[in-house]
Amino acid sequence: MNITIVGTGYVGLVSGACIADLGNHVVCLDIDQSKIDLLNAGGVPIYETGLREVIERNVDTGRLVFTSDTQQAIEHADLIFIAVGTPADEDGSADLQYVLSAARSIGRWMKHFTVIVEKSTVPVGTCDKIAEAVRAELAVRFPNADQAPGFTIASNPEFLKEGAAVEDFSRPDRIVVGISKDENGQRALAMLRQLYAPFNRNHERTRVMDVRSAEFTKYAANAMLATRISFMNELANLADHVGVDIELVRQGIGSDPRIGYSFLYAGTGYGGSCFPKDVRALIRTAEEHGRELKILGAVENVNRDQKRVLVDRIFAHFGSDLRGRTIAVWGLAFKPNTDDMRDAPSRVVVAALLRAGARVVAHDPVAAEEARRVLALDLHDVPAALQQFDIVGKPMDALRGADALVIVTEWKAYRSPNWGALKREMQQAIIFDGRNLYDPHLMQSEGIAYHGIGRAAAE
Ligand code: NAD
Repeated sequence: MNITIVGTGYVGLVSGACIADLGNHVVCLDIDQSKIDLLNAGGVPIYETGLREVIERNVDTGRLVFTSDTQQAIEHADLIFIAVGTPADEDGSADLQYVLSAARSIGRWMKHFTVIVEKSTVPVGTCDKIAEAVRAELAVRFPNADQAPGFTIASNPEFLKEGAAVEDFSRPDRIVVGISKDENGQRALAMLRQLYAPFNRNHERTRVMDVRSAEFTKYAANAMLATRISFMNELANLADHVGVDIELVRQGIGSDPRIGYSFLYAGTGYGGSCFPKDVRALIRTAEEHGRELKILGAVENVNRDQKRVLVDRIFAHFGSDLRGRTIAVWGLAFKPNTDDMRDAPSRVVVAALLRAGARVVAHDPVAAEEARRVLALDLHDVPAALQQFDIVGKPMDALRGADALVIVTEWKAYRSPNWGALKREMQQAIIFDGRNLYDPHLMQSEGIAYHGIGRAAAE
């Protein structure tokens, strides 16, 4: 099939590369010329395990092409995926300017019947807006509507996880497809079934539904996962006051198959490019319909406070004036195996420590460059604080002379450090562990002061 992916970010690039890997001819289109130039020079703008290999393999066979030429990209395709960003607007709603601009480009250049597949996470009703935008462009080109090429919009939200994006895209749990009831909808479904057939060999994973329900399903999934995290964080904060170890509780409830183990880790809050904005957008959708999503309001508030928990503990220990203190931070990306810093809890932690006068020496296996960029923006009002911020190449190097170690992201590299070396490097062996990586009993026997999340009973 001839396919174009509009937007070459985390979702677009991974989808494009993996769809080309299935034997299709894929054009990845982006308006960011520097991204396209980098990709055409053999570079990969994001960090994702296995992505470089898939890209190289398919560029070599000529099945995967990167361009900023909108006309060429749109004319190429029978199936066009929209995978552009939908960031939060100031009021929390999803900003649809990129989606609608992509829709207008499609209407401006499409030549034959086209299935437009909406993959970005968008509020209910957006596919209707896309259709309107395409129609408006076609009306300019074809005053006689009968002569305009036909099109249909399908919703196909993406469920891949950053950090495991290639694996997730290639082995999806489910493929949600929302289509209209008419003949064109059936045509779109047939094409998508053909496209995704290799993923359905073992059993059928496609869930076919109407477009609106498909749009909503993506928000419901992310809202549910965010809810589980905030729920556990709230319980963890209580656990500290009532002599309970939240880790034991997690195992105790996770063993119930109705509950399961996933997304029950207490920690320093969720971040990333999806949960925060999607929870806010769903709250906003409800408000637009005169409804209040009370649970999700609480989920968001708990998460906002949770990002401060490590800072509050550090202040409780050292006082809120950290001048003269050196704090080591392990992990900056919002989660392991990605360089994504969007809404990362580390931004709250590092900014608060720097504002309090600390010297912060951080380590992250892949997010260093991106962290430097976003923290410079976050701390634009206190440029002097940034001079106190260093990122080093090895975890142990961050510990030299540190008064405390703060763990914000649970990268594998931090799971079993050499405790002797850690104690030798640090000024004081104190760990504030925002991801509950270590056994408090082991910490005690190593003579390390340890503060986890919801683990006071075991500390
Ligand atoms: P991103 O910001 O990484 O990439 C978006 C890309 O679209 C950018 O490169 C931008 O230059 C490009 N773009 C914007 N307007 C364009 C236009 N008119 N034509 C061509 N290119 C254009 O975004 P992302 O993280 O890939 O997310 C994309 C969508 O997928 C969002 O709606 C997001 O919520 C959703 N999503 C993301 C993830 C994830 O893990 N990142 C997972 C599932 C769903």
